[in-house]
Amino acid sequence: MTEDETPEGPDLTGFPEVQHRIECGKFVCPGDENSRCHQYPGCDGEHERWPCGCEYVSHAECWIKPWIEGPGNLADSHDESDGVYALRNEEFPDGDVSWVYGEDYMLFQYIDQPEGVPSE
Ligand SMILES: [Zn+2]
Ligand SMILES: [Zn+2]
Repeated sequence: MTEDETPEGPDLTGFPEVQHRIECGKFVCPGDENSRCHQYPGCDGEHERWPCGCEYVSHAECWIKPWIEGPGNLADSHDESDGVYALRNEEFPDGDVSWVYGEDYMLFQYIDQPEGVPSE
């Protein structure tokens, strides 16, 4: 991903960002329709890339969540460079996570090393 390929989107800075978490083995978004990750084009899935020219509207659903959970297994969306290794889906501990957007995938990372996780 290079910076000059990043398309221009609408200014979403007026919408607050929220802290996503892993809770009970699920990716949890604490936001609502006013949160930044709930603003995306109304065409919803018709276009693979945003912005696509369609108007951004508020949604009840976080756009990140289905990307993280999409493969059906949290392990597939986990970026192990956070030092948390070899966890199975149901074994992901609760904790605050950040996310990164790849070419056509999303990864999450723990912000702080969760307790009880082996460090190797
Ligand atoms: Zn569109
Ligand atoms: Zn969200």
